[in-house]
Amino acid sequence: MNIILFGPPGAGKGTQAKILEREYGFKQLSTGDMLRAQIAEGTELGLQAKTVMDQGRLVSDEIVIGMIRSYVESGACVKGAVFDGFPRTIAQAEALDLMLSDLGRTIDIVVELQVEDEQLIARIQNRAHEEGRSDDTLKAFKVRLDAYRNYAADVLPYYQGKGIRRPVNGMQSVECVSEDLHAVLERDA
Ligand code: ADP
Repeated sequence: MNIILFGPPGAGKGTQAKILEREYGFKQLSTGDMLRAQIAEGTELGLQAKTVMDQGRLVSDEIVIGMIRSYVESGACVKGAVFDGFPRTIAQAEALDLMLSDLGRTIDIVVELQVEDEQLIARIQNRAHEEGRSDDTLKAFKVRLDAYRNYAADVLPYYQGKGIRRPVNGMQSVECVSEDLHAVLERDA
C-alpha cells in the first residue's frame, strides 16, 4: 500500500509516518528529511536547497522528484511507502503517479491531517526550541503556512478527484491521531 501524508507544517506528518513505518513496515519517504540530510552532508544540492528552505519557499520540482525517484526505483519501498511532505505540486503528483505506474503500483490513500493555524504556531515554537531547525522561525513558518494553503488548494482536489482523499483530525494526541489513521487504512485497504 502507498500512502501520502498531507498536511500543513507542524501537523505531525513525520511523527505519524514513523509510527506507520514501525507498525506496518512501510518505508517513510520524507523529502524534508532527505533535503536536510543533503544539507548535513554539505552536498551541492544541499547548498542550493538550504537558502530556499530557510526562507520557507519550495525547492524545485526537479530536485525533489529526482530524490523521490531514486528511492522508489531502488525498490526500497516494496512493502509500501508513506510519502511525507511530497507531492507539494501537481507536477510532483503527476511524476509520482507515473513512476509508480511504471512499477505497477498506485497511491491508495491520501490522508489529510487537519490542524488549525494557532495550534500549528504553538507546535512550531516548541519544535524550534527542541530541534533548532533553521526554518522554524516565526517568519519562515508563516511563509511555509501560506505556501501550504496555496499548494493544498491545487494538490488536494487532484486526489479528491481520484476519490482517495481522507481527512483526519490532527488536533488530538499522537495516539488518537494514530488510531484514526489506522481506522482509515483498515477501512480502505
Ligand atoms: P514542514 O512540512 O514542517 O514544512 P518539511 O520537512 O516537509 O517540513 O519541509 C521543509 C522544507 O523542505 C520546505 O519548506 C521546502 O522548502 C522543502 N521541501 C520539502 N519537501 C518538498 C517538496 N516536495 N517540494 C518542494 N520543496 C520541498
